[in-house]
Amino acid sequence: MTYLLNNPADFAVDALRGYAAAHPEHVMLAHGGVVRSTDTPENQPALVIGGGSGHYPAFAGWVGPGLAHGAPCGNIFSSPSASQVYSVARSAENGGGVILGFGNYAGDVLHFGQAAEKLRAEGVDVRIIRVSDDIASGPAESHRDRRGIAGDLVVFKIAGAAIAAGADLDEAERVAWKANDATRSFGVAFDGCTLPGAGEALFHVPDGEMAIGLGIHGEPGIREVPMGTAAEVADLLLNGVLEEEPEQSDGAYSGRVAVVLNGLGTVKYEELFVVYGRVAERLAEKGLTVVAPEVGEHVTSLNMAGLSLSIVFLDDELEELWLAPADTPAFRRAAAGLPAGPPRTAVHTPGEDRIPEASGESRDSAARIVQVLEMLRDTAAEHEEHFGRLDAVAGDGDHGQGMAYGTRGAASAGSSAAAKGAGARTVLLHAGDAWSEEAGGTSGALWGAALTAAGGVFDDERAVSAPDIVAALSAGIDAVVRLGGAQPGDKTMVDAALPFRDALAAEFDSSADVAGAVKKAAAVAREAAEATADITSRRGRSRILGEKSLGTPDPGAYSFSVLMDALGTFLASSPDGTPEQP
Ligand code: ADP
Ligand code: MG
Repeated sequence: MTYLLNNPADFAVDALRGYAAAHPEHVMLAHGGVVRSTDTPENQPALVIGGGSGHYPAFAGWVGPGLAHGAPCGNIFSSPSASQVYSVARSAENGGGVILGFGNYAGDVLHFGQAAEKLRAEGVDVRIIRVSDDIASGPAESHRDRRGIAGDLVVFKIAGAAIAAGADLDEAERVAWKANDATRSFGVAFDGCTLPGAGEALFHVPDGEMAIGLGIHGEPGIREVPMGTAAEVADLLLNGVLEEEPEQSDGAYSGRVAVVLNGLGTVKYEELFVVYGRVAERLAEKGLTVVAPEVGEHVTSLNMAGLSLSIVFLDDELEELWLAPADTPAFRRAAAGLPAGPPRTAVHTPGEDRIPEASGESRDSAARIVQVLEMLRDTAAEHEEHFGRLDAVAGDGDHGQGMAYGTRGAASAGSSAAAKGAGARTVLLHAGDAWSEEAGGTSGALWGAALTAAGGVFDDERAVSAPDIVAALSAGIDAVVRLGGAQPGDKTMVDAALPFRDALAAEFDSSADVAGAVKKAAAVAREAAEATADITSRRGRSRILGEKSLGTPDPGAYSFSVLMDALGTFLASSPDGTPEQP
């Protein structure tokens, strides 16, 4: 469907006018098309490319330095008229002759041909390049009789680069044909496209099938096969184009290829990348080297659901031209020489940070922290179903899973850091990262931040003391408040955590018994968590169903109180760091 239009009959013209208005640095309107907004240098061949509209970025999007000089634009899916081609060519020509480039379709052949006749009659040297990359449209023996699809980009890019590098008309014509002869494309469609204003698509592909060998003018495929996975589609297309891989030989094609994975209109870029991942893997397995792949929409077919894969079997000359700079509204390649720096040799990988030196004392504390994390993991696992049920009332039901995954990740990251000699601070920092990574969700991010802040209170030198534990718990809770921005009464874990923090400080001040203080504060937290049943949610996911949460405690507040209670029990059972054996 095309949703936005004024009058269907004016769609192509309106689009072109808006395009020119959007890119005044590159193009200006001519009769029936656009030309570069700068004059063609004297005696430089003018590359004039085109076809129907509905294929953007092809063809108007490719007008600019390093690529085309002008583009006549026909109506949707129909060739520009001879007079449109002529006007654009006349505007662009400046003594160097003209190359008319278009996909090999009957209408284009006629209209461009007729314009060529007229230009020639006026003494202009004109060469014609009919792009014919689509392997589905004819046998390999008559490659130049096939129809043109996404190979348009390759052929015009290479011809434009040659012209920018100083090629004359003969030379530009020669490399354009060479590029065409080195390019093979193959496509599939999942559904047809709809002309602007039309109520029905030009064709449909039956559910569960895909059409092989699509055209770009709403031509259905040549046959239908069962729908495949992204990898199967990638294999299908790649196997097709590689069937015509030429022999490798020195000085000619030596296993280096340009690749264009082209979306036809409604295939998402992410989907294209999923397919491309497989294409890249397969090409690497075959020992082929990919040069500057293009993955995206290049030659579209209105809202056609489909994609095509083009491979260009490069030699040195084609490779250099493929890589040459270009500056057009829809296709840009930076000139070499922009500061890029040396190739990167490493990227950050979680868990592989250098472990800072730690003292024996701090490592002993770290070992105990790992025990705490493992205890939290077991506690969360035990309560997973209950936490999930609480979250299902007004949230999305994943709180049990989030807590189970988060604590599991934290315990395992903490233990592997400790095994590498990490001290108390580092173990908690690793655990915090892993918690938020593994848990996902809001509470995961908040717990991760809490562990990180708590770790910041410790260091890798000293043993963790009782006052350190109190300070770390308090710092963790402050981080949750800071990061989450929840106020008391919003019905979040803050409603349990703040009373916990205050009770802990008061109890510890008077008793100096950290385990007892945690245990008592946890009881306060539990009561506060239960009390959240009486309020409606104003934060987080469940705010949307706030009213529904009445009568049920906040899952995050509740799980907080459960974990803190377990912490109190743990600390009481192992006051000197050796947990009681069951
Ligand atoms: P998600 O909401 O992404 O599904 P969970 O289900 O794991 O994440 O956690 C939900 C809990 O997260 C809530 O019950 C609440 O306690 C807590 N929460 C959500 N937003 C905040 C916030 N801004 N501050 C503190 N806690 C929050
Ligand atoms: Mg949830």
